[in-house]
This record gives sequence, structure tokens and C-alpha cells, in this order.
Amino acid sequence: MRGVVMYEPGDVRVEEREDPQIIEPTDAIIRLTATCICGSDLWPYRGAEPVDHQVMGHEYVGVVEQIGSEVRTVKPGDFVVGSFWASDNTCEICRAGYQAYCVHRVLMGTIGTQSELARIPLADGTLVATPGQPDADLIPSLMAASDVLGTGWFAAVAAEAGPGRTVAVVGDGAVGLMGVLAARELGAERIIAFSRHADRQALAREFGATDIVEERAEAGVARVKELTGGLGAHSVIEAVGTQEAMMQAIHSTRPGGHVGFVGVSHDVAIPGDELFMAGVHLHGGPAPVREYLPHLIQLIWDRKINPGKVFDLTLPLSEAAAGYAAMDERRATKVLLTL
Ligand SMILES: [Zn+2]
Repeated sequence: MRGVVMYEPGDVRVEEREDPQIIEPTDAIIRLTATCICGSDLWPYRGAEPVDHQVMGHEYVGVVEQIGSEVRTVKPGDFVVGSFWASDNTCEICRAGYQAYCVHRVLMGTIGTQSELARIPLADGTLVATPGQPDADLIPSLMAASDVLGTGWFAAVAAEAGPGRTVAVVGDGAVGLMGVLAARELGAERIIAFSRHADRQALAREFGATDIVEERAEAGVARVKELTGGLGAHSVIEAVGTQEAMMQAIHSTRPGGHVGFVGVSHDVAIPGDELFMAGVHLHGGPAPVREYLPHLIQLIWDRKINPGKVFDLTLPLSEAAAGYAAMDERRATKVLLTL
């Protein structure tokens, strides 16, 4: 089968790899219908994380081809969506809704799903079958559910977005935009999106943003305060992972408010005195996407949400390198790879 390998920063190749096999009786093999490039794939691409001949990709939708002897809840022919952590969905941590921290978890990025086939560990706990074979136009939205939608949803839940709340979203990448959509679905009254790109501002508004703030850092914080009677937002989503974004999120939150942080943290150090004086709740980390998949799949199936609009470039898998370059150069927010 063909799959993406990152040789070193900036060097992405599609090459022939060995077909995956069932290893554990709880495994399934899926044939991918689509895959995509994640904003987090840009960290190694830019040299901000070490990378050496790494298989790439952790988002996936596809059709089950083969199952191990202990798999019960999915069968060959099922169309399935899974998240970037394989999880058993039965341990105490999973049952509490934190499948990203499952005691048996497997990181799908180590398997690599930017490929034609993929082995899915813990298939019963990881994969969720759709109600039937999806129409082609639903594929991008189901693909979004595999990571960015579920991650944005977790961020909105962690930030306690809801009726009567003002939600601010730091980061106008795919996850931030999905956080806007999630905040709207959760009933937020007002949604402030930080963005200085016209196309992303337009998409944020389409997903439910009521206000756009172009300023960043402390100037952005000042704008949020102006818009909220000097208090700050009740709920703030941090979807970048840098020091500036994290402090912008904490400072934009009113005392007693909640920050949901899902940007993969890189060299973030929160000064203790600032944290102490902020009086805010912080919750975040790798999102337990699996917890939300059944609900998100149903919303997509019923055409109540259209998160697939976050993909603004579609390329065949063979042109994955061009997709990485487009995201790196910010010519694309998120790239869908077709098979
Ligand atoms: Zn578990």
C-alpha cells in the first residue's frame, strides 16, 4: 500500500509500505476513504519536533476490511470513524469520558493513517460505525469528526461554553474554527473569534462567531475586555499551543471563568503569580474525541452541522507533500487527502 513518510523536516514522501496485518485479536484493518493533514503535523514539518523517517497521519475514516477474532461491534463492510487515540472504551478512565488517557491507549500517529490501509488497535472501543454508507458529500465532515471537530468540541466543553456565556476562541486554524462551531452548538450567546485572515474570519462567522478581534496578545485581551463590559469572557478556547496564545487565553478569561486548552503545548510556561491572580479554571490536553463521536456523527448524519467546510484544499494522497507545503505556507487551513 502507499503511505506518507516524513524523512526529515520539510521532506514528505508518499511511498510503498507493507500492508498492515491483524496483530492482536482486538485489531481491525480499515481501507481509508479519506485522510487528512493535521495542524500538529506541521510541528515536525517545521523542525519544532524531532522527526526521522516517521509514518504520518492520525485522522481516518474508511471501511472495515478485516477484523480480529475478538472484535464484536464492527464488521467488514462497516463505514467507521475513529479518533487519534485508540482506546478500549471500557477502563475506568474511558468510562469517565477521558478515552485519550485510556490505560490501554495506542497513539494512532505511531501507526500512520495517511495511507491506503491502517491497522486500528482496540477496534471495538475505538471505531464508531456510521448508520449506513455515507453520501460522498458527508465524507469531509466525518473526517473532521476524527480529530479537529472532536478536539474543538472538547475545548468548548472544557471551557464550559453554554447558554448565556460569552466564548472567546484563540486560534483560527481548523481546531479553533471547530471550537466556534462547538460553542454555537452548545448554546453560547456570544462567540468572539480572534483572527486576522479574511477567509478564516468569514468561516468563523459562518460557524457562529458573532464578533471578530484582529488584535493579538495583550491588545487582543483589551478588545475582549471592551466587548465584555471590562470583565473578560466566561469561556476561552486556546487552540494554538504557544506561550502568547496561552497567556492571551488566560488573560481574556474573567475571574471564575474557564479556559479549555487544546493547542499542542510547545514551550509554554505559565508564570505562577499570573496564574494565581487570574482566578480561572484551566482544563485541556489531548481531547477524548471518542467520547463525542457518536453524538458528532449523528449531527453530521442529520446534516445539522457541516464541519467539513474547514477543508479548503483537497488533493490525492499522492500529492501529500504539496498539501503539507500549502498548510505550512498558510495557503490552506486544512487539507483533505483522497484515496
Ligand atoms: Zn480505556
